[in-house]
Amino acid sequence: MKQASLAGPSDPMSDLQTILREPRYDLVTSPTPLRRLSGFERALGRPGLFIKRDDLMEIGLGGNKLRSLEFWLGAALRERADIVLVAGGATSNLCRLTAAAASVAGLDCLIVHNAEDSPADRERSFLNRLFGAETRFIGPVGEEERGAATKAAAEELKRKGRAPYIVGDAVLGALGYVLAAFELHEQSQREATPLRHVVLAGSMGPTEAGFIFGNAMLGHPFQVHLVSVEYEKAELEDRIRLVHDGIGQRTGLSVGRLDQAPLHYHMGHLGGGWGVPTPESEAAIIAFARTEGILVEHVYTAKTCAGFLDLVVNGGIPPGEPACIIHTGGTAALFSQREQFRTLS
Ligand SMILES: *Cc1c(COP(=O)(O)O)cnc(C)c1O
Repeated sequence: MKQASLAGPSDPMSDLQTILREPRYDLVTSPTPLRRLSGFERALGRPGLFIKRDDLMEIGLGGNKLRSLEFWLGAALRERADIVLVAGGATSNLCRLTAAAASVAGLDCLIVHNAEDSPADRERSFLNRLFGAETRFIGPVGEEERGAATKAAAEELKRKGRAPYIVGDAVLGALGYVLAAFELHEQSQREATPLRHVVLAGSMGPTEAGFIFGNAMLGHPFQVHLVSVEYEKAELEDRIRLVHDGIGQRTGLSVGRLDQAPLHYHMGHLGGGWGVPTPESEAAIIAFARTEGILVEHVYTAKTCAGFLDLVVNGGIPPGEPACIIHTGGTAALFSQREQFRTLS
């Protein structure tokens, strides 16, 4: 482990070089926009509300996975892979963005969908084939079986003389959000009052863990709020810890203990679980559309937006302390979610 030198505490910018030494394939024009939520500022009568638009990227409709793909494709190209494999559901943002990014990098792409080969699921994964990926539907199996099927497909490709790379290493992918924390910090420093709170979806962990690690490298400028959209608190914490500690091991950087980080878990918007709307998440989709002209969808961003509004309105984020929600993308899924709305047709 790298220790703080005798000259004093470690310097964030030189530690950042350690991350930047990993090979990275350029997919994201940074910084992504940091915008004021002026409609909500007016409607709620409080200044200092911001959104970071990680849904606005040039490739494949953008989203958080593109920051991870910079590192995954960097690794794939270093290994001289000629095809990338990725697994996920029919509407998976990871699958769509892998297909799009692979086409930019000149790599083939094979997607293993744990979904039925039904007309509805084929339609949901249409953009993947538009981006030139091959899609295989292995039925509605769990994460473990899906992973095994993907490894088997990679072995089969090797026997045929291909060089496959399986996308999805959580620790490597998380490095994208270590960089995003530095990026947001730099943007924040340009504001009259720098950001104090950052609100992010709590899900599988890489995005959150990377951001938290980057925030720690910077000396914790941000209070980080995670709105769980997928797991109960204990599981979310475990997932984040695993990736967070993995980043330390991989990079040799030590940032102190996760349980001492300024980190807040918000479980009140999980409702029926992953992808199941709540009245508040539907209200948040409508409020963001009608107050800001910004689209968010049911699975990841609606509950995060609902949590953000909840914190702002109910005092979880005190007035006078600027706050930013990170829009992680996923908007393409909205087009297959119309039937999930209760108050709109
Ligand atoms: C995958 C995803 C998330 C969650 O990111 P994790 O790193 O898996 O926690 C959030 N928002 C969108 C739109 C996503 O696609």
